[in-house]
Amino acid sequence: MRNTASVWCLIVCTALLWGAWKISSSAENPTPPALQLWPFSRRAPAKSPNAPAPQSGPAARPSVSAAPDTRPTPPASASATAAPVNLPPEPMPDIRVALLPKAQKSVNLEVSQSFTVREIGTEKILQRSEKIGNTIVSATAQGLRIGKKDWPHSKLEIVPSQSPGVWIEGHQYRGTVRLYRLSGNQVFAVNVLPLEDYVASVVDSEMPSAFPEQARQAQAVIARTYALYQRAAVERGALADLQASTKSQKYLGYQYRDGKKLLAGESEASRKIAAATRGQVCQFRGREFCTYYCAVCGGSTVRGTDFFADAAPPLKSVPCEFCREARLYRWQAEISRTDFQQALAPWLKEKGQPHSVVKTVSLTRKTSGQSGYPEFDLRDGRQTLRITGPELRQYLGPLGLYSPRFSITDRGQTLEFHGQGHGHGIGLCQWGARGQALAGRSCQQILQHYYPGMTLAVHTWK
Ligand SMILES: [Zn+2]
Repeated sequence: MRNTASVWCLIVCTALLWGAWKISSSAENPTPPALQLWPFSRRAPAKSPNAPAPQSGPAARPSVSAAPDTRPTPPASASATAAPVNLPPEPMPDIRVALLPKAQKSVNLEVSQSFTVREIGTEKILQRSEKIGNTIVSATAQGLRIGKKDWPHSKLEIVPSQSPGVWIEGHQYRGTVRLYRLSGNQVFAVNVLPLEDYVASVVDSEMPSAFPEQARQAQAVIARTYALYQRAAVERGALADLQASTKSQKYLGYQYRDGKKLLAGESEASRKIAAATRGQVCQFRGREFCTYYCAVCGGSTVRGTDFFADAAPPLKSVPCEFCREARLYRWQAEISRTDFQQALAPWLKEKGQPHSVVKTVSLTRKTSGQSGYPEFDLRDGRQTLRITGPELRQYLGPLGLYSPRFSITDRGQTLEFHGQGHGHGIGLCQWGARGQALAGRSCQQILQHYYPGMTLAVHTWK
């Protein structure tokens, strides 16, 4: 009897332990919190209310050096990668991209194919039209005005007979474009297109075409993952999943006008990259996570939780010496005291110190070799205010701070900033991915370097 009781006790205890393990293991991967930073989508909640938007920083990216690579090939152990997990067939999702940073008084529309106008959410065709040249879309008290025609609708979809057909503000897009009348007589435009077409444009929009193929494949996989993650995280009723700017990831569309020049937003090469990685995503415990990425990490990446509340465990700090050739691996900026004071005025006001004049700036916590952002003490002679690197960058960014990781040297009338990298430094380093690809690493090895613990999975689109 005692033996039977012991056996039962053992079984019950094992079951309890198993249950506890299941709970704790799932609790480590919670649903991302529902902070809303942007009126139309729940995306990338930053930890600090003052934190700048994530950015991959494709701008100011220097041209690629054609010099032969002399770095040693990575050790053989790095080449051991698990086979990607194949996911069951499903329809390819559409992605909804907000084309404007915010609603505007009017929007320039052009359609280079015959098209139909529908009310969003219905298949009913309201009008068929031949192609139209530049036409102004504005809001009326009752609905939308397209050219001279008034529509009693507050949401219309332009569906071209052939894609790409619709132009908004000088960019031509694949798929359809939705026009919304928003409060305050404002107009908003959203592009709806198949995921893989979106990825083909993001690859060229985010990464130079001269970067090596395996780096560009890694870019395609993280762009796809990021889009699917945001699509799943967006709140009900949102008009879009992503923004077309680096607030999400840069998306230039099919082609666009820059002054008199017509430039490509995607290319045969970027379409091939999207096709070669079709359906591939980064997952952690069977789910897509937010694959944040940056232009240049400057020697090591930053732990994701240092900045983003929804950072998944693979967003660890990892060493990266592969971005050394980037112009912004290290940078310097000089900011006059007057400009510093002026740029920080909104922050000081927010801290309840609008009249504080900063006399000294001192580093209190350094950017360590592995992770973290610096913190500084600002003293005005009476009191001390603590400010973080990301906060300083938010206010001083336009004065030449490329990243939130820097030291400051007081030079009297000016402050000298010595910084590393470009962007927030979290996740894949685009210049590092380039360096790794040049050193012979595969797309999957690159991804596993920047997101340790992730698995590569492949969606099968029907
Ligand atoms: Zn790097």
